[in-house]
Amino acid sequence: MSTITLSFDNGPDPIITPKVLSILKKYHIKTSFFMVGTSIEALQDEHLLNNIYDQGHWICNHTYTHTVQLGETKSAKQAIDEIEKCQRLISSFSHPCKYFRPYGAGGILSPALFNEASIEYLAANQYSCVLWNCIAYDWEDQNWIEGTLQQVANLEHALIVLHDFLAYMPETLDHFIQKALEQGHQFTQFFPESSVVMCSGEVSNALLVLSQKNQF
Ligand SMILES: [Zn+2]
Repeated sequence: MSTITLSFDNGPDPIITPKVLSILKKYHIKTSFFMVGTSIEALQDEHLLNNIYDQGHWICNHTYTHTVQLGETKSAKQAIDEIEKCQRLISSFSHPCKYFRPYGAGGILSPALFNEASIEYLAANQYSCVLWNCIAYDWEDQNWIEGTLQQVANLEHALIVLHDFLAYMPETLDHFIQKALEQGHQFTQFFPESSVVMCSGEVSNALLVLSQKNQF
């Protein structure tokens, strides 16, 4: 039996996110939404962030454009803009720990996730950085449930990345939660400590190891 934390990346989506919220409500599960700044700007419904917040989910920063990994930005300013512009959009809805997740380009934990300027900026501004240990590949295949449950079974505490812009997410999420509960897993909103590589500006060893590979 494992502990599961769900996280939803790359939203919010005006159609799918409210349906995901309904499924989570049905099971009384609280999660985190790692939002992309340009997706927030594209929203017509300004109440969506409010609804997510009111349901007790955590609203977190997942870059402004989600188009370039911080380790591959052309300037320090570009990297900092990716973080800062999204944070401004989530503003008062942000979790007080200022949770930030870098764009992972396929979910690989690589040195390209950060560059020196972004780590310095995140630390100086007391951000917390949340990575992941379980990728569902839900964006590649709508049959993501079994493979994800297999990964969960091998982890004490799985932090799963899902995407709340996929049309099939609400239905498959419902099935996933049902099966996970049947298998005796439990859900928590808290992140496994090993996936939080910066905590309120304090850099963890895991982040140092990751960034050393990038020769900072
Ligand atoms: Zn993403």
